[in-house]
Amino acid sequence: MGRRYRVGILGATGTVGQRFAQLLEDHPQFEITAMAASDRSAGKPYSEACAWKLSGRIPAGVRDIVVTPIEPPMDCDIVFSSLPSSVARETEEAFARAGYPVISNSSSYRMDEDVPLLIAEINGEHVRLIERQREKRGFDRGFIVTNPNCAVVSFAPPLAALHRKFGVESVFVTTMQAISGAGYPGVASLDITDNVFPYIAGEEPKVEIEAQKILGSLTDGGVVKADFTVSAQCFRVNVVDGHVASVRVKLRSSATLEDVVAEMRAFPSLDLHSSPETFIEVTDEPSRPQPKLDRDNGNGMTITVGRVFPDNIFDYRFVALSHNTVRGAAGSAVLNAELLISKGYI
Ligand code: NAP
Repeated sequence: MGRRYRVGILGATGTVGQRFAQLLEDHPQFEITAMAASDRSAGKPYSEACAWKLSGRIPAGVRDIVVTPIEPPMDCDIVFSSLPSSVARETEEAFARAGYPVISNSSSYRMDEDVPLLIAEINGEHVRLIERQREKRGFDRGFIVTNPNCAVVSFAPPLAALHRKFGVESVFVTTMQAISGAGYPGVASLDITDNVFPYIAGEEPKVEIEAQKILGSLTDGGVVKADFTVSAQCFRVNVVDGHVASVRVKLRSSATLEDVVAEMRAFPSLDLHSSPETFIEVTDEPSRPQPKLDRDNGNGMTITVGRVFPDNIFDYRFVALSHNTVRGAAGSAVLNAELLISKGYI
């Protein structure tokens, strides 16, 4: 067996932090040794500080870890961050400067030109921005790597499949996002029960810009963003986990429906511990994907696509689904850490 790394979680008591604790319970490369959160939690054992909301019990290995404030040093080799963006920018920089690899779910650094915004299967080579980042920011061993907004993760993979082969010209996307995406306690029950909520603060701008960086090409001058426009509307819906994206796409070259489906299905997964067997699963069932039935595909790491059809205004339309706290957050961060180890950055 290879080396085991000691892992610290920033924002460990939150929705994404709990998912980290669950996903890392039996991980062959990682062991959680440190957990940090706000002053409300610091000084308490994790089992007391955390209002555990996932099925199953709090993993035994983390129950008694005493939560610390979000400052270096932390008793670990790698830091996963699931902090609100209001505190993430300063804190993540402090950890990177103190020599820790920081793998972040927060939006704070995603669009910085020297910070990789990774979906491991799509743009793993963007990790090379780390050298640029270290030079620019004067980091020695530490660095910051980010994963995308949880709604972007649902539709960027099928777009990547189409962009590689046919070129994407424009995208119209409507997202239907789960309640857990707002963290805990998140949206008030009276706002979301019997309702569709047409506003998620700050979400539409993120959904309109992140895919272009992820699908961009790495050059000596940095990432040249993919040249397409995205128009997005984002809704909060009464679903616990699983973000759905309804997508219409205009392509730069012509493609048959069979080509479109074949390109999505053929997009390879990786050979890392958290990689799903199938990265993009395309279903022919007319009533799928559905959050309740499909969010756990590939242990929550598969993107499920369905209802792929020619469109009357754009070229094609489809519906894409991903598990927002697994593929959209903690699971992708863990996969990114596995990728960084495999490429020698950790
Ligand atoms: P959450 O449930 O509200 O959890 C927030 C965590 O941050 C808690 O551990 C909280 O600690 C800690 N925290 C809050 N304010 C703090 C402060 N001032 N100083 C130190 N720690 C503080 O939120 P979440 O849903 O896990 O989201 C965390 C981050 O991940 C956000 O940036 C979010 O945008 C991003 N993200 C979330 C999802 C998702 O599906 N939920 C998906 C992708 C990305 P206490 O318990 O002590 O308050």
